[in-house]
Amino acid sequence: MSSLILDGKALATKIEENLKERVIKIIEKTGITPILATIIVGDDVASVTYVRMKGNACRRVGIEPLKVELPESTTTEQLLEEIYKLNRDDRVCGILLQHPVPKQIDEQKCFNSIDIDKDVDGVNVASFGAVTMGIRGYRSATPYGIITILKEYGIKMEGKHAVVIGRSAILGKPVAMLLLNENATVTICHSKTVNLPDIVRTADIVVAAVGRPEFVKADWVKEGAILVDAGYNAGNIGDIDLKNSASKSSAYTPVPGGVGPMTITMLMSQTVDSAERKYL
Ligand code: NAP
Repeated sequence: MSSLILDGKALATKIEENLKERVIKIIEKTGITPILATIIVGDDVASVTYVRMKGNACRRVGIEPLKVELPESTTTEQLLEEIYKLNRDDRVCGILLQHPVPKQIDEQKCFNSIDIDKDVDGVNVASFGAVTMGIRGYRSATPYGIITILKEYGIKMEGKHAVVIGRSAILGKPVAMLLLNENATVTICHSKTVNLPDIVRTADIVVAAVGRPEFVKADWVKEGAILVDAGYNAGNIGDIDLKNSASKSSAYTPVPGGVGPMTITMLMSQTVDSAERKYL
């Protein structure tokens, strides 16, 4: 069977072209360039790279990146103070707190203090609640990217059995809720799940968000299933053994070039949504 490659890189580029035009319209109408503020605490190498990539994406679509750098020793109270400042700053349309933050910080408390109208990375529990209930709210970026790819390629979710492996707050749980909102029948698996391979064998759609290289084996995959690999492990390796299972699938997201490129684009997309709500 030939499998369709769900090309997130190409889709991200296409979406960015549209975002550029939307930002130009905002600037033409208001003379204001929308700002995305990114807070980074400490100097974790991966986080520094992600923040740089997000800054570059802002520049590509015409958003102004504002980087707030705080020392590793920052306390929860100090971080909250910075978030409150950005909440009050009328020029800022979106706030992103790069995670993970150092251990002494209460991350969820900080996420929850981001104004939900500026929570373009969808990390506030109020945003999660709104999205889960199917009312307007910013979605967690990677899950939103996954649903956007599936829709772009016309993959029907309604009535399908979707098995999500992983239940993190930023990925597993929200993607499960988005799939549910698309009328999929969703099973959420995690480290305490019993008989995981047998559950995956019943999946029409597999979303792997585990953080373990090639964790999902080819003999767990049903012929014709759709494979969404959100994993990104050292050496550009996903959470699904795609080398051996892609050919069994009807469609799959490659690693790299599948889910990964969509995440930052969805952040940009929700920042432009926020700017349009504010200015147009
Ligand atoms: P995480 O917070 O570490 O969560 C991993 C999840 O996998 C947990 O829910 C855990 O279960 C589950 N798990 C671990 N071992 C398992 C096992 N043996 N069987 C079943 N479930 C197991 O990771 P995350 O932040 O969600 O990220 C997951 C993956 O996505 C990583 O590879 C990460 O790099 C990637 N990612 C990619 C992007 C992107 O932009 N493309 C963004 C975010 C993350 P418990 O809850 O029971 O511990």
